[in-house]
Amino acid sequence: MNRPQVAVVGAGIVGLAHAWSAAERGYQVTVYERSARASGASIRNFGMVWPIGQPHGESYETAMLSRARWMRLSTEAGLWVNPCGSIHLAHRADEWSVLQEFQSRAETLGIACELLTPAQLHQRTPAANPDGLLGGLFSPTECCVNPPQVIRSIPAWLTEKYGIKFRMETHVSSMEPADNDAADRSVRVTSSAEDVAQFERVVVCCGAELQSLFPHVLAASGLKRCKLQMLSLQSPGSDWNLGTHLASGLTLRHYRIFEVCPSLAALKTRVAEETPELDQFGIHVMASQNNQGEIILGDSHEYGADIEPFDKTLIDDLMLRELRKVFRFPGWTISQHWHGVYAKHPTLPVFEANPAPGIHICTGTGGAGMTMSFGLAEQMWNRWA
Ligand SMILES: Cc1cc2nc3c(=O)[nH]c(=O)nc-3n(C[C@H](O)[C@H](O)[C@H](O)COP(=O)(O)OP(=O)(O)OC[C@H]3O[C@@H](n4cnc5c(N)ncnc54)[C@H](O)[C@@H]3O)c2cc1C
Repeated sequence: MNRPQVAVVGAGIVGLAHAWSAAERGYQVTVYERSARASGASIRNFGMVWPIGQPHGESYETAMLSRARWMRLSTEAGLWVNPCGSIHLAHRADEWSVLQEFQSRAETLGIACELLTPAQLHQRTPAANPDGLLGGLFSPTECCVNPPQVIRSIPAWLTEKYGIKFRMETHVSSMEPADNDAADRSVRVTSSAEDVAQFERVVVCCGAELQSLFPHVLAASGLKRCKLQMLSLQSPGSDWNLGTHLASGLTLRHYRIFEVCPSLAALKTRVAEETPELDQFGIHVMASQNNQGEIILGDSHEYGADIEPFDKTLIDDLMLRELRKVFRFPGWTISQHWHGVYAKHPTLPVFEANPAPGIHICTGTGGAGMTMSFGLAEQMWNRWA
């Protein structure tokens, strides 16, 4: 009854990660979510827990901490978390050079990975297009989750295990430091469900929607909105298994961990000269397979003023053109098209701000929220303790 009370705004992956970390430290947690179920970036992604995309050092360590917590969720909450690993494929000589350079540095960087020949690749996945295939890089650390399933299931588990209260369909309209002296109830939260509630601390995890609660913080933050288009293919049937997450040589341009490779510059120049339309729409291609057998494909990146509510057929066509060059699936029947929007900071893995005592904003996990959130939340609650 006397546990200190904290609130989390937003039941996307960042909010759920904070709720879990706070509850483990003995806080009574209330989560506010304006929708009946969270339906933002956290349910629209590939479900890739992707340490191999993080710069080596602190970010990679945070991703590995997150990974360990995903594996805990698998055991304790019974969630489907597949430790499938990942493969980057090389179909061009410059892509193969980057992979070789990366592998030669990997041990020094503390990253486990191995180069695979085309024959070895075919033992791990049926989906590597053999035409022009030079090799691949296997990393064992990546995992696959089913985003809509985990974002729906984690709240029920947190409620059962820790007594966390979820106030769904409850919009938080404002918050401010309380004007009384009670040190343990210092923030007043106004929401659509009740006039006012008071908490020791409020963590704002509202994804790309900071505008309505803290427009002045957003204006000074450097955060940018990014829109991604995605596709899924019908399940090819229960006897066909992707085996591992797959990424293309184009993906090497996207993740900062590969910046240690001298050949990356030449690869980027070649793509920019040969296929400038891929840079224009931030296209690189990846594939994951969820526990329903669906194959999730993407993606593109459009920023700021380029973001429109309408999806571009041209982007889907370009993605499919590139996907067909590097992957081979039993069929190409598209079951769904969608897009998602996330907030991203140009240099930080997460954007944090304290606009008033007891109020913490945590957003801007960019394209790595599924990978980083559990680790970031742990580090923050350790710091706040
Ligand atoms: C297409 C796509 C693919 C991606 N793929 C991957 C991937 O494979 N791996 C990976 O690691 N990352 C991936 N990402 C990134 C990842 O999805 C995001 O970083 C992450 O989901 C952000 O989580 P969030 O909780 O901050 O935001 P959200 O999921 O948007 O959640 C914010 C929640 O806050 C609620 N909210 C906002 N304001 C209020 C308010 N005032 N009151 C109450 N509730 C409020 C919203 O309703 C929402 O549910 C991808 C993103 C996209 C868009």
